[in-house]
Amino acid sequence: MTEFVCRVCRDRFSVDTPRWQCDCGGLLDLDFTPSLDLEALKGRPATLWRYREALPVPEVADLTLGEGFTPMLRVEIGGREVLVKQEHLFPTGSYKDRGATVMIAMAAHLGVDNVVEDSSGNAGCAVAAYCAKAKIGCRIFVPADNSPGKLGQIELYGADLVRVKGSREDTATACMEAAGDTFYASHVYNPYFFHGTKTFAYEVVEQLGWKGPDAVVLPAGNGTLLLGAYIGFSELLSLGLIEKMPKLIAVQAAGCAPLCASFDKGKVEVDAIESLPTLAEGIAIVRPERGPQMLDAVRETGGQFLAVSEEEILAAFNDMARKGYCIEPTSAAVIAGTAIYAAVADLEDIIVTMFTGHGLKAGDKLHTLATGKP
Ligand SMILES: *Cc1c(COP(=O)(O)O)cnc(C)c1O
Ligand SMILES: [Zn+2]
Repeated sequence: MTEFVCRVCRDRFSVDTPRWQCDCGGLLDLDFTPSLDLEALKGRPATLWRYREALPVPEVADLTLGEGFTPMLRVEIGGREVLVKQEHLFPTGSYKDRGATVMIAMAAHLGVDNVVEDSSGNAGCAVAAYCAKAKIGCRIFVPADNSPGKLGQIELYGADLVRVKGSREDTATACMEAAGDTFYASHVYNPYFFHGTKTFAYEVVEQLGWKGPDAVVLPAGNGTLLLGAYIGFSELLSLGLIEKMPKLIAVQAAGCAPLCASFDKGKVEVDAIESLPTLAEGIAIVRPERGPQMLDAVRETGGQFLAVSEEEILAAFNDMARKGYCIEPTSAAVIAGTAIYAAVADLEDIIVTMFTGHGLKAGDKLHTLATGKP
């Protein structure tokens, strides 16, 4: 039986009542046992819902905009070929749709008619889009001084924007207060989100012919893809579909790299750090809630954390563009990290990475990035 489990006190809760944290304040995971019937997959549409027996929502709950099963292409990065999942080709322009489709399908199944979320970026866009599809009301809390960038896309889907004066933490607090009586569709707290992003791992393994890669290079902000991939590969290992866990290589921008600092010192907690502005704004998270879990996951796979400079991010952004790929600057940070890792990895190794977000998300900045002119 699927249940919420507290990461701190191990208390368990029914998933039939919406809940976003334990009574002790601990983060929740899902205790869930997946299954997979490779024969049944054959006739199914190329969306992430093809793995429905491995997803923790009832079969009737499918909620789809045709997301997932993104192409995996060979791209030259760091002087060799790397396999790159085209996660920028999702309906809202980022892989956050993986998490949102599963999380909002569960909300719809429970009869929820309103949700709240705090994100000014791609998670907000994805939650707003799937709420529109499910005809669920959606309120997204954003800092009042947020740049307009992605807010327009959130509003376009019909979500209410609530602008909160003060810091990013004040926005989160306001959202949590509202979450007292509304479903908190959080991409950080809600474990259903991570059971959506885990389908990344299922797709990689199916696209490799039911074989695991040697290493996967991923972004590390709040870890929505990193932890999803960790869950997915762990499940595939326990289902006997891969033989070992791939190494998870986690990339942060050097200007905001709290996890790199803790990893290098062998710490299990996340140190407070000073941060600098970065092109990779989507992963600039000073205090990631699931940071200790991310450190654990990377260590367990024998992986590592890497920090990339602004120059390396810009170079990767331009390199991909000149190969025909239009990606977000945040996404280019992962590619910069991939170039570093690919240069030292065993040539025989299968390395997988991804384009996390579409360049058109940063439409207003492309001219400056491409030409260096204002
Ligand atoms: C969400 C996101 C990431 C990864 O961020 P996390 O905070 O680790 O979940 C990377 N790139 C893009 C474009 C994103 O939207
Ligand atoms: Zn607890």
